[in-house]
Amino acid sequence: MKILVLNCGSSSVKYQFIDIDKSYVLAKGMVSRIGMSASVLVHKPHDRPEITISGEILDHIVAVEHVIAILLSPNHGVMKDKSEISAVGHRVVHGGEKFPDSVLVDRDVMQVLRSCIELAPLHNPHNIRGINACMQILPGIPQVAVFDTAFHQKMPPFAYIYGIPYILYKKYGIRRYGFHGTSHFYVSRRAARIMRRPIEELKIITCHLGNGASMTAVKGGISVDTSMGFTPLEGLLMGTRSGDLDPAIILHVMAREELSLHEANTLLNKHSGMQGISGVSSDMRDIIAESQKGNTIAQLALDVYCYRIRKYIGAYAAAMGGLDALVFTAGIGENSPVVRKKCCENLEFLGIQIDDEKNEEAIRVETEIQTDDSSVKVLCIPTNEELVIALDTKRIIEEAKERKEMHKGL
Ligand code: AMP
Repeated sequence: MKILVLNCGSSSVKYQFIDIDKSYVLAKGMVSRIGMSASVLVHKPHDRPEITISGEILDHIVAVEHVIAILLSPNHGVMKDKSEISAVGHRVVHGGEKFPDSVLVDRDVMQVLRSCIELAPLHNPHNIRGINACMQILPGIPQVAVFDTAFHQKMPPFAYIYGIPYILYKKYGIRRYGFHGTSHFYVSRRAARIMRRPIEELKIITCHLGNGASMTAVKGGISVDTSMGFTPLEGLLMGTRSGDLDPAIILHVMAREELSLHEANTLLNKHSGMQGISGVSSDMRDIIAESQKGNTIAQLALDVYCYRIRKYIGAYAAAMGGLDALVFTAGIGENSPVVRKKCCENLEFLGIQIDDEKNEEAIRVETEIQTDDSSVKVLCIPTNEELVIALDTKRIIEEAKERKEMHKGL
């Protein structure tokens, strides 16, 4: 069974075409600068070199048409006919409380998805555009929506209710939802595999440290708390997002700087985080390079970044009543020994001890980096959100087929 996985952003479509029975990526790529001049399609078949094509790609429908065309291309393609695509799995950022699991898309589901736009106005409209594009271009091929929020839907109410009037939760759905669910799900399962222990008996903290960053307390395989909240703005310091802050600061700055809602939103999402503190860059590589050159503000941004992660490790160990494993993943988590070391400083009292040599060597590989005496396993695990989306897509269409067969038999 071959599954096309799509991740549609505002001006980009990332894709992977996966032979799910072999867990093998046949081709992957990305269309970027959609709707701008000089759009670019970068495509990498599994057995040939990467190619880059430039042109004008006006919208997501044209972008998906290009993806299908390149997958069919005699020179660069990996399939002969569209019908080789068994299903399309779409990353959808926000499923609200309505979607605790992935779902086969139909007209009713599309309507509910549209009602979730209010919760994620920056992300969901583009995800929906991708689904619409596939419905037009690949009619009859099942579409499955896989949500970033779904893994966190089993959190207990005391972890997701905010200290504001309860009526606002009832009226507007204001609560913690959490994001990066497919990544936290994947690395927590891999951690259990590596440890050769059932996930049901483990207490794991997963740190997804990419451009966006979040941490999750995974107890017995279930997300019991997570650092992102109603939106992906809460929690850790990120590239350009503030993470946790006193809500009164926003009111104060809006009043003093006479900011509109839109400007305040841009300040918190695009001009804060490491970029905002350092004034140098949102990229951890630049922050580390600058701090090593003696830039004290870049050093401060790095200190704030790692200190906050340390605080969350303590908080989540307390939330779960113990800790068996700490997992680092995503761009920074997979690649930066400096960050991993700083995040684990002074946590020996929790049983966390990093082996410096193993830590230095762990670059984008699945490996353990704790010392022999460390009672907590410290793991680096490259994330694979596309694989989770493809596996879930397969499960959902198989379940739908079974239901259909059962109805026939009745
Ligand atoms: P992601 O969103 O998971 O693709 O992660 C992207 C981020 O990973 C970039 O913004 C960089 O800050 C970070 N990153 C990638 N490579 C390295 C590295 N070698 N050292 C530190 N950070 C890195």
